[in-house]
Amino acid sequence: MRVAYGKVGQAGLWGAVLGAAGWSAYAAAEVVFASLLFGFTRPYAVFRPWHWQLTGVLLMGYLVVGAAAGALSGLAVFGLSRMGQVRKDSPAVLEAAAALTLAGAVVWNTAANAMGLTGAIPVLIAAVVYVLLLLVELRSDVWSERFGMLTNPWVIAGVLLGVEQVADLMDMASGQQLGGNIGLAVHLLEGALIVLIAAAVWLGRKLRPGMPAVRWAGGTLALGVLLIGSMEAMGMARPAAATVVAQSAAAPAPAGARPNVLVIVMDTVRADHLSLYGYERDTSPNLKALAQDSVVYTRAQSAADITLTSHASLFTGMYPSWHGAYCKEPDAAYGRPVQKDVPTLAELLRAQGYTTLGVAANLYMRSAFGLDRGFQEFRIERPVPLLSDENRCQLRRQMRRLLNLAIDTAQFDRLNSNAEEIDDQFLTTLDGRLQAAGQAPFFGFINYMDAHFPYIPPSPWDRKFPGKSSTLSKDTLEADQYVIAKGETIPAEYQPYCISQYDGGIAFIDAQIGRIVAGLKQRGLYDNTMIVVTSDHGEAFGERHNVEHGNSPYQNLLHVALLVKYPKGAHTGRVESPVSLIDVAPTVLQQTGAAVPGTMQGRSLLDASGPAQIFSETFHCQVIQSVACDGCGARAVVAWPYKYIAFLQGRRQLFNIESDPNENRELSGTMAAEVSDLGQAVTAWGKTIPKQSVQQMKLSPDEMKRLKSLGYVGGGK
Ligand SMILES: [Zn+2]
Repeated sequence: MRVAYGKVGQAGLWGAVLGAAGWSAYAAAEVVFASLLFGFTRPYAVFRPWHWQLTGVLLMGYLVVGAAAGALSGLAVFGLSRMGQVRKDSPAVLEAAAALTLAGAVVWNTAANAMGLTGAIPVLIAAVVYVLLLLVELRSDVWSERFGMLTNPWVIAGVLLGVEQVADLMDMASGQQLGGNIGLAVHLLEGALIVLIAAAVWLGRKLRPGMPAVRWAGGTLALGVLLIGSMEAMGMARPAAATVVAQSAAAPAPAGARPNVLVIVMDTVRADHLSLYGYERDTSPNLKALAQDSVVYTRAQSAADITLTSHASLFTGMYPSWHGAYCKEPDAAYGRPVQKDVPTLAELLRAQGYTTLGVAANLYMRSAFGLDRGFQEFRIERPVPLLSDENRCQLRRQMRRLLNLAIDTAQFDRLNSNAEEIDDQFLTTLDGRLQAAGQAPFFGFINYMDAHFPYIPPSPWDRKFPGKSSTLSKDTLEADQYVIAKGETIPAEYQPYCISQYDGGIAFIDAQIGRIVAGLKQRGLYDNTMIVVTSDHGEAFGERHNVEHGNSPYQNLLHVALLVKYPKGAHTGRVESPVSLIDVAPTVLQQTGAAVPGTMQGRSLLDASGPAQIFSETFHCQVIQSVACDGCGARAVVAWPYKYIAFLQGRRQLFNIESDPNENRELSGTMAAEVSDLGQAVTAWGKTIPKQSVQQMKLSPDEMKRLKSLGYVGGGK
């Protein structure tokens, strides 16, 4: 069968084949690029099978659109050849026409949707150059030969993706808190682009005359399918789910043995969105059941408003200014690690012979910040971000919008393991560790991220509470967030959608906590395990022009859940007096019989004579900030029922958080005595903060990109 376009049917058919091959090559190149950048560079970035199913969906989208565009290009070539405008009977003409649809799509997409974003101008220039080259190729045999393989869709994809990546890296290099290897990465990538272009021209001149279009198309399709297939296989080759491993569960711990400890953090979950605390939507039936055997602390305060700082306080029993893990410009705009000489809960329990394991969804748990210290095994598995911000100028976002007409593509935005995957990883790791550790008790840590922006619980949890809309995605919500942060009216769709998905995410986490509890019971471990369920901070949905978390000292971010199932259910009930998350570590140490180090500022939750004042701190971080953030740094003290906030810029506020939990009625003008007392308390407390050595926090480009994808790094936004 000969590639030709002398007849209209032939032209359309071959155009469709070449278009499908070209566009799927481009799709595969995008996936390969994302995999190289995110997947293979870090050992903790393990592919998850689910993401490759989405990749398959994307590939099918490209295949169909490519076939349609290619068919149209074939028909155009047929018409033009009849008019004598293009060369007759040259397969290269059909190839060039099919590739032209691809380059043209990148030009259109970039010009229409990506202008103003990093890398848009260089990508646009490169794509326009390609359009011109392909137009020349349509009319000139001589130039077509000279270009060699330069206009092959694989090469087009490599050049356009590479140009965008270079621009993105150069943009990052202009920011703060970066390692020295970004410059090197830019030069390496520039070198690779030059080699690619030179090799495409040189090799192409030799190879292309002997490579008819049909083989070119077949080979390209096969290579794309092979690449996707091999990655799918890598994902599928992951260990089976924990239900299989559960058969080999460890023997029950002997009576009287030291208790196991499990700390579960529901990242970003506000206390007032849990039915455990009276929320009208039943988001936490499993926590309510667990509460039967537990003490529920109804007034728990987080020590800080972001993941890094709050987890560090949870793990060290110290306030942020003492453990040091907070944002500090200019050297550590995205956070400093925990001070090296500060002991963490995992280190202290490890020293007592505990076997220690952690599984986290949140990137801030990684070793660069010191939060994995003391864990014998710590897992942060992540999917390859197919649609992350770094690829915003390319075609995937438009393809996703197209696919969204037929299927739900919300999961495309997920950049972390979901709670079900976290449970699989945790139970598998736990079984392995228990077998290796014999009778040693364990300290386990779990961090779930399903309530975190962009709020994408899996089906059916996304429909559990009404409000989901298929027209909204991470992109549109981010655009809304900038409107909100500027002080303008909250877009009508923002809160109903976000809160429905946030609540669905919480309900999903709750179900997975139920699974962990059942898993412990199944292994005979439940009774003698101390289970702490809490959250690191809450979330804002437009209050005071704030979105997400960070840069805010108010209760929507600081009032968190705290439930403790003590070993053998030794204590139950509800505790109304305020407590701090810095109290968790000393309580755990007390329950395990270990000494509480003098560095810890928290007290045991079982100690009735606790401090009357509980402090929290917020530091200016590189996250989206509202017009009202007033410098975004503050210290707050709770002396029930009052809460006093001292902003570092000078403003002072007083609230009665018992009668006014949302802090709407500011009282500092009318309650001079409380303002004076609490103001002095914050000042005196501030004077005891130790002077710390200046820490430098360097991030690799890869880490930087991941933080950026999560919205933790502002970048060009
Ligand atoms: Zn967090």
